[in-house]
Amino acid sequence: MEKQTVVVALGGNAILQVGQKGTLEEQLRNVQHAAEQLATIALSGRWRLVITHGNGPQVGNILLQQEAGKHLVPPMPMDVCGAQSQGFIGYMIQQALKNVLARHGRADIPVATVVTQVLVDKNDPAFQKPTKPVGPFYSEQDAKRLREEKGWHVVEDAGRGWRRVVPSPDPKAIAEREAIRTLLSNHTVVIASGGGGIPVVQENGVLRGVEAVIDKDLAGERLAEDVGAQVFIILTDVDKVRLNYKKPGEKALDRMTASEARAYIAEGHFAKGSMEPKVLATVRFLEAGGKRAAIASLDQAVGALEGRAGTQVIRD
Ligand code: ADP
Ligand code: MG
Repeated sequence: MEKQTVVVALGGNAILQVGQKGTLEEQLRNVQHAAEQLATIALSGRWRLVITHGNGPQVGNILLQQEAGKHLVPPMPMDVCGAQSQGFIGYMIQQALKNVLARHGRADIPVATVVTQVLVDKNDPAFQKPTKPVGPFYSEQDAKRLREEKGWHVVEDAGRGWRRVVPSPDPKAIAEREAIRTLLSNHTVVIASGGGGIPVVQENGVLRGVEAVIDKDLAGERLAEDVGAQVFIILTDVDKVRLNYKKPGEKALDRMTASEARAYIAEGHFAKGSMEPKVLATVRFLEAGGKRAAIASLDQAVGALEGRAGTQVIRD
């Protein structure tokens, strides 16, 4: 049977959970658990597997290190911090997955991380309106100084202090798509577009990194399109998508069609920046020709892939 391609997006909880400090040991333990699920998919022999993942807490810490170490070494801009986080998280997933595969006698299955640039439009309206908080909290005085010195946009974040906000533009294309396709056709499990990818713009044929953050689920969808995936699975910390979430009449959905999902988005059922981009990503995927998508918890990865767990999102 001809293999199909699946893109699996891992949520932040697959790497670091709420309340954890962020030590390497904690992160390795979480990634180990995720690797067991991913290995089941790879070992089935039925799928070409692409993995993508979030990077919020990790890149936050890397940005903090830039700030804390700026008198010792030159601080790096956000695009470089994003690249560092892809290498760091990709390394953990690669190692954990290789170890599980080896335990099942399949050390021969190749696994590789691709440092991934994602093209965004320099005229994307998001650049006029930065909304995504990143990095450490600052005092009001420091925040205002950074605004002067670096031209950063800073905002007060719900009484917790001041934070930098950056634009969150829409992903347009995966710059490394050919490399990723080549790896997949050679049976390599690929980890790509971590943290939504490194946002880059192209001007007169020249790529340049920009200070922004792309939503990882929307970037995962673009990746799924660019590698011609049939199935797109988003794994997070809830078992299903819900209507009237945390309100009277809450309802978990086993399935919805793409146009039902569009209508639910318009009705405001999903929180911006968390569930809304996931649902939008599944809708875009189906509208672009994908066969099936699902949003599920990490533990139900295999069930979601087989169409019997999570919220299945299907064509109209
Ligand atoms: P991830 O790291 O997996 O991207 P997010 O925190 O961004 O995780 O998104 C998952 C969260 O979305 C859930 O923990 C849940 O609290 C929240 N959420 C918001 N709206 C809904 C909804 N309608 N149904 C289910 N979960 C929702
Ligand atoms: Mg998220």
